[in-house]
Formats: sequence, C-alpha cells, structure tokens
Amino acid sequence: MTSPGFSFDVTHRLDGAGGRAGVIHTPHGDIETPAFVVVGTKATVKAVLPEAVADLGAQAVLANAYHLYLQPGADIVDEAGGVGRFMNWPGPTFTDSGGFQVMSLGAGFKKVLAMDTKGLADDDVIADGKERKAHVDEDGVTFKSHLDGTPHRFSPEVSMGIQHQLGADIIFAFDELTTLMNTRAYQESSVERTHRWAERCLAEHGRLTAERAGKPHQALFGVIQGAQYEDLRRQAARGLAELEAGGRGFDGFGLGGALEKENLGTIISWMVDELPEDKPRHLLGISEPDDLFAAVERGADTFDCVNPSRVARNAAIYTADGRYNVNTARHRRSFMPLEEGCDCYTCTHYTRAYLHHLFKGKEMLSSTLATIHNERFTVRLVDRMREAIKAGEFYAFRDEFLGRYYATSSR
Ligand SMILES: [Zn+2]
Repeated sequence: MTSPGFSFDVTHRLDGAGGRAGVIHTPHGDIETPAFVVVGTKATVKAVLPEAVADLGAQAVLANAYHLYLQPGADIVDEAGGVGRFMNWPGPTFTDSGGFQVMSLGAGFKKVLAMDTKGLADDDVIADGKERKAHVDEDGVTFKSHLDGTPHRFSPEVSMGIQHQLGADIIFAFDELTTLMNTRAYQESSVERTHRWAERCLAEHGRLTAERAGKPHQALFGVIQGAQYEDLRRQAARGLAELEAGGRGFDGFGLGGALEKENLGTIISWMVDELPEDKPRHLLGISEPDDLFAAVERGADTFDCVNPSRVARNAAIYTADGRYNVNTARHRRSFMPLEEGCDCYTCTHYTRAYLHHLFKGKEMLSSTLATIHNERFTVRLVDRMREAIKAGEFYAFRDEFLGRYYATSSR
C-alpha cells in the first residue's frame, strides 16, 4: 500500500541488472529517477541560492535532522511551515534521521565508504585524538552536541518527532550506524537492534501522521544495515520489507551503512534482491562517478552526498576528464570555462582564470561558482544515466564515461 500523495512508478528497466528509471511522486513535485539529490545540511546548499540550485537541475534537496535539531530547533522549522518553506525551496525535500551524524561522533570517524579496514576489528575504534561523544544502548543514543558539548538523546521516537517537525517529503527511520571495523558479532546484534528501531519508527510515524493530519504527507524509508556481510544485508532488507504497522509498511528503503567501495555493486544487489520492485531505494552518501554507475546499474534510484559542494569550496573541480584543482598556477591565465561543453551558469559566464583569482583572493563568490559547477556535473551525470537507461544505452554510456574520467585524473 502506498501513502496518499506519495508513489513510485518504474517506467524503464535495465537489461541484465536491477537498474531502472522511474518517477517518485511527492506532495511537492515529482523526482525523475535515477536522480542525484543535492545536500543542504542546515537547510541551505552552502553558498548557493535556491534559485540557482533549481537552475542547475537539482530535483530535490536533503537536509540533516541532527543539525536542524541543534540549530535553529525543529520546532522553529515546523512553525515556518517545514524545511522546504523555511529555506525557500518549493520542490521535494528529504531529511536523514540524524543517526549518521550522531553515531559518527561516537566513532570519531568521517569516511565510511572505502575505509581501509584491513586487520582491524574493534567495536570501539576511535580516531586519534578524538573523544568518544556518543553511546548506543537498546533504546537510543546519548551524545554531546558538536556545537557546545551539551548532552542530548536520540531514539527512534525522537528522530520521528524531529523529522515530522522538519516536514520533508521523504524521511528516514533511525538506524544504528556501524563501521566495517566492528566485529561480526556486533554487526549481528546491530542489525537486530536496527530492525527493532525500524518497528518503533513505523509505529511512531503512524501516530504522528494521524496526530498531524492536514500536513503534507511524509513518506518513511526504512534503512538497511549489515555492513559487508551478505547474510546480514539480506536478512536486514527482507525484515524491513516485511514490516508493517497499522496496515502500512515502509514507502521506500535507504541503503545505508558501511560499504566497501570495491564491493559496492554486489552489496547493493543483495539488498535489492530482497526488496519489493515497486518501492524506491535511496543510497546514502555517494557521489563519485564509478560509485554512481555501479549503484544505478544495480537498482538504486536516488543518491545524496556533500562531496560535490564540499570539494568545490576547496577549488576541486569535476570534469568528464577527471578532477582538477583550479587553484594551481597553470590556471592563472586559462581563459576557458571550468569544463568545456558544460551548460552550467559558471561555465557559460566565467573562466578558470577568474575562478583562480577568486580562490587566491579568498573571495566568497569562489565557493558559489565552483559549487554550481560541481553540483551541475553530478546532477547531470545521473540525469544522463537515466536517459541512457531509457534509450537502452546504459552500458555503452558507462564504459565511455568511466574510460575517459579515469584515463587521467588531472589536466
Ligand atoms: Zn560547469
């Protein structure tokens, strides 16, 4: 059963794999999939006006429950009419559950994907010099704010309450994040705990949906964990696909947690095998071209990642020929666009020499212009994958794109 105001239609399928193209319908508009969702952590895509975010082709924005809970407070966003209205973004919105931020504080790490874990298996790995700031128990997570050190507690019910106040079209169940360094035994108990939390999220979501009748309907995605283990990934996916509360199951699924880069496609396949065809799947936190191709091929529908904008603010520019740094001296007199043939606002109006000058001068406009290009590059890449699926040319497009992208990493 689908929720009122929310549904998903698969329109095209990829031969020989789980990939597909489709349309997610939300109360704030449609998302043609596969689609890259731009991240606006604190209800702003850093340095860029919402109009520019729309102009670069983004269909949806994802904000973070953790950050908005700490500041300004989810109640203020609720009073403003939800995160979309608060930030002047009229289109579809997502919020994550806050679990990733809360628990990555606990482990003191940032990079989950492609983490080098050889020889490590420790349930209490803490990066050098980091204080452990979060503790997980059966009921939830206690953590300290990264802003002022004050103590806070998230549980499945708290996360649902915050995400209902934030009012995004697509919200996520509160899951326990593990790392590839946790032991097998810990991963097993964590998958079971995440399942119990998913049940509680579904029940609380139903209660809040009834209590807040009259608000635009919010779709809830369950989040699948299980790290690098096939049996755990399958068990977790199957368990969430079967869950129901009050006659309603999850509206879609988040493919979450620690993923080994080299096995990304395989791990996605395990989960997709166990999930219903007619519900969308969001892969949390990836944007590198090879990862996007692998994930789209295996049946992930939407993606989000902070990387395109984060690296843009450090002068790293994505192009079809790989990434380069516009800060380096050879771009001082380069009166060409950031990327030849790019249709973004930055590339159609400015040169590398100008961007080089802005970065050297630490001008704020450097972040704005570089972010517009990198987000456009990533959104457009996934748009082109969608078109290639529809045209029956996905594999040819993949081989051509990746061959060129990884042929050289700098110019
Ligand atoms: Zn561009």
